Amino acid sequence: MTSSAPHQAPAPDRQDLHNPSIEESAAALGHCGMTDLHTGRVCQEPQDHAGSCAFVASAPGAR
Ligand SMILES: [Zn+2]
Repeated sequence: MTSSAPHQAPAPDRQDLHNPSIEESAAALGHCGMTDLHTGRVCQEPQDHAGSCAFVASAPGAR
């Protein structure tokens, strides 16, 4: 084992998916997926939409 191996960073294909504030399932569907950490609501606007996020509540029974 070598302890001095260079750190290999993952390919930056979808950096937004590495953001803990992004709902990955929503992002995979092409949505913005930004999550409001206070309410747990997820932005269902298209990815890279203009304007501010519009957070909507998850469907009842999702949790
Ligand atoms: Zn958004």
